Amino acid sequence: MILHSYTCELCILQREETLRHLFLRCNFAKSCWQSIGVSFPNTMFPTRVVSHVKRSLQLPFYMEIIIIMSWCI
Ligand SMILES: [Zn+2]
Repeated sequence: MILHSYTCELCILQREETLRHLFLRCNFAKSCWQSIGVSFPNTMFPTRVVSHVKRSLQLPFYMEIIIIMSWCI
């Protein structure tokens, strides 16, 4: 998709809205994840998110939580 701007609209950091920024590094995303007790190290790759959330939540429906949280963000 071609847009006139790829800057994140959810925070004041003026960062490019990459996958990592949008779902992990953006202050808005961090606040959303922290509201359910999940935080990510700054060096975490997006491919490790599922196993990290699974370990953090210790719930059988962790994948549903990831999907719903990602949709909400
Ligand atoms: Zn942002």
